[in-house]
Amino acid sequence: MRFVDEFRDPELGRALAAEIASLAEPGRHYKVMEVCGGHTHSIYKYGIDDLLPDSVELVHGPGCPVCVIPMGRVDDGIAIARRPEVIFTCFGDMMRVPGSEGSLLDAKAAGADVRMVYSPLDALRIAKQNPEREVVFFAIGFETTAPSTALTLGRAKAEGVPNFSCVCNHVTIVPPLRALLESPDLRLDGFIGPGHVSTVVGARPFEFIPADYGKPVVISGFEPLDVLQSIQMILQQLVDDRCQVENQYRRVVPYDGNLRALEVMAEVFQLRPHFEWRGLGFISQSALRLSEAYADLDAERRFDVPGVRVADPKACQCGEVLKGVIKPWECKVFGTACTPERPIGTCMVSPEGACAAYYNYGRLAREREVV
Ligand code: SF4
Repeated sequence: MRFVDEFRDPELGRALAAEIASLAEPGRHYKVMEVCGGHTHSIYKYGIDDLLPDSVELVHGPGCPVCVIPMGRVDDGIAIARRPEVIFTCFGDMMRVPGSEGSLLDAKAAGADVRMVYSPLDALRIAKQNPEREVVFFAIGFETTAPSTALTLGRAKAEGVPNFSCVCNHVTIVPPLRALLESPDLRLDGFIGPGHVSTVVGARPFEFIPADYGKPVVISGFEPLDVLQSIQMILQQLVDDRCQVENQYRRVVPYDGNLRALEVMAEVFQLRPHFEWRGLGFISQSALRLSEAYADLDAERRFDVPGVRVADPKACQCGEVLKGVIKPWECKVFGTACTPERPIGTCMVSPEGACAAYYNYGRLAREREVV
């Protein structure tokens, strides 16, 4: 299949792995963060880390949209979903994210009308089919999914669908990366840049990483050879004593992003002054809310929400996993009290979450064998 098979060629993979090994300086340890949960998933699905020398360590970043939703936002969603007049819609993964008193799936089991949708347009269609009910879409995701929410809100406004509204939890990628780079307990040598987000924002917003922090960034695709080539490009920059943003995913990512998508987002959203991230705390200007022009479609203004900050369960170490400080299997409840079937933390919910990826691809058993 075009754009798939040629990026999964085992011979080329082995050649790239050999090149990475030859670039790695003897006695030096390299820590490379893959920002995006999609990369984490690819790395464990294809065993990419098994091809790397021991001196090259991959560290998981905060780029899984489900993983960063704090418990308080889940509680806000559940409070709206419990209202008898509401049909509450969200993506499938989101339904399983634990709040302080259970998940949206638990709320559904208790009688709330919670429905899974594949896109915000599905939610808008449900609103048109049920004019006597209030239909709320719980929007999550980085800049990757924000344009589709923006376009849907634009359509709802243009078509005058009064019973449709949105809880906006969209977040932006640059502020958490800056927060990570400011963190004293994390030493990184480079970043595998988020390919999906970059299709919208482009590669340019990541220029602050080499400029202000002296670290290389390579925007990467998601096939095994994409990820391997990106690691090779990062090590090549380090060997050459260069430090810049490079775009390995040029077949999809324009350096300046998708201007039309950015335009639509700018019309529909505005930056929140601050937003809480699971495990990372409050980060200023790191999330979006609906702009004044779209205030009438903002579910947080239409309904009462608790808006209360809820601390993560004591056993949960998602914050350390999201910051790359520990590996998933180092969390005390990994694979025992916390599994994909019964997650305690968000990183075990979505297939893009580092804990779920480790668990689903048998890493727990492997790490135990090694130990
Ligand atoms: S194992 Fe569960 S609680 Fe621990 S970090 Fe992973 S998702 Fe969070």
